[in-house]
Amino acid sequence: MNSQEIQALLDEPACAHNHGAKSGCAKGQPGATQGGCAFDGAQIALLPIADAAHIVHGPIGCAGSSWDMRGSRSSGPILYRKGMTTDLSEVDVIMGRGEKRLFFSIKEAIDKYRPAAVFVYNTCVTALQGDDIEVTAKAAAERWGVPVVPVDCAGFYGGKSMGNRIAGETLYKHVIGTREPEPIPDAAQRPGIRVHDINLIGEYNIVGEFWRVAPLFDELGLRILCTLSGDARFHEVQSMHRAEVNMVVCSKAMLNVARKLQDDYGAPFFEGSFYGIDDTSQALRDFAGHLHDRDLTARTEALIEREEAAAAAALEPWRARLRGKRALIFSGGVKSWSVISALQDLQMTVVASGTEKSTEEDKARIRKLMGENTRMIDDNDQTALMATCREYGADILIAGGRYLQAALKSGIPFLDINHERDFGYAGYTGIIELAKQLSYAIDNPVWSKLHKPAPWPGRSGFSRDHRG
Ligand code: SF4
Repeated sequence: MNSQEIQALLDEPACAHNHGAKSGCAKGQPGATQGGCAFDGAQIALLPIADAAHIVHGPIGCAGSSWDMRGSRSSGPILYRKGMTTDLSEVDVIMGRGEKRLFFSIKEAIDKYRPAAVFVYNTCVTALQGDDIEVTAKAAAERWGVPVVPVDCAGFYGGKSMGNRIAGETLYKHVIGTREPEPIPDAAQRPGIRVHDINLIGEYNIVGEFWRVAPLFDELGLRILCTLSGDARFHEVQSMHRAEVNMVVCSKAMLNVARKLQDDYGAPFFEGSFYGIDDTSQALRDFAGHLHDRDLTARTEALIEREEAAAAAALEPWRARLRGKRALIFSGGVKSWSVISALQDLQMTVVASGTEKSTEEDKARIRKLMGENTRMIDDNDQTALMATCREYGADILIAGGRYLQAALKSGIPFLDINHERDFGYAGYTGIIELAKQLSYAIDNPVWSKLHKPAPWPGRSGFSRDHRG
């Protein structure tokens, strides 16, 4: 990828902040790959395509740094969880054997696993030595009759968001529009209900959380052609162009796909989230609104009324425990605002939100939810973060797993919200799970004991010795 192509990717017209001096996506800065390079961003966006083989073309360290980080679940094939790499050594680089190794790695993956497709990812070393992964992929696809998708995503092209965008661009160029959707099965037809085809873009089915929401779509007669990319199959990605409307679930990732589907196929898109009762209801309403189907709108409203009532009843005991508790959220992107909305559903107070990886649009949403003077934290200094928790009297820190140790040492209750987490929080039932896990974390008796002297004589106590 040359510098003009990288520049073009920074210019995303669908982004509200893509004007004037502010591009929709920040230019890469030295050190910007901390927290994920472009390769990492592209791979985590595409890896959940479950029936494909994903080969990282480069030194083994690149594959090791990103494999299986997202925690996406599949309801069927698990091929995507096999780490595959061409494992280039210094000798391969010196001898110029990169393309050859890639060609035969693709063959090996096809022979062994019969994948629906093979994705090959470029990395820094292979991009610098000029391996032409596009030509190699084309030759391999012609030779073995399996689609091979070259993802030109060398780490130095930019950060994780750039990688997400490259992933979207690659799918649009090589995959989307190459197959028509399957006909709707007779068993899925119900009298008087018109089935609409839709896509979810940027939904990764973390710990299987989308399965909490999917039955609602079935009930409404909304057929999900593809969730890009959680629990996706390659043929579903190929037929995405036939959706009538697209929802962009993570505001930053792959907005370019939604915009191009709108420009080329006339399918409108909207942004939303499935975290929290209000946002889930709004997402369902937005689908009905964009599809201009009055019957669907009426059925959607009835479903929302039923689900909101059930969620409210199930939440009541948890609300009593959580009402007024103060939370500090330190998570980037869509979670920086969507989780605020979920916590407000629980009548908790959000004292500050992290914006390290948030776009201007994410920040605008935070201000809308929390007010203009809200505290936004945009650097990831752990000591400062713990000090902010204490300053604002936070009852719980909600953040990614890397802050767990700092929170434990500081005696601050902690809940993991990132993709390594163990529980799914999407949809009407997800918010109940979230309430449960928040209560368990805040009310855990360990916090009141952590910094007390040991109850036996002559010892200063474990916790005091390890105080952060
Ligand atoms: S692609 Fe480059 S920046 Fe990314 S993990 Fe590999 S060497 Fe590091």
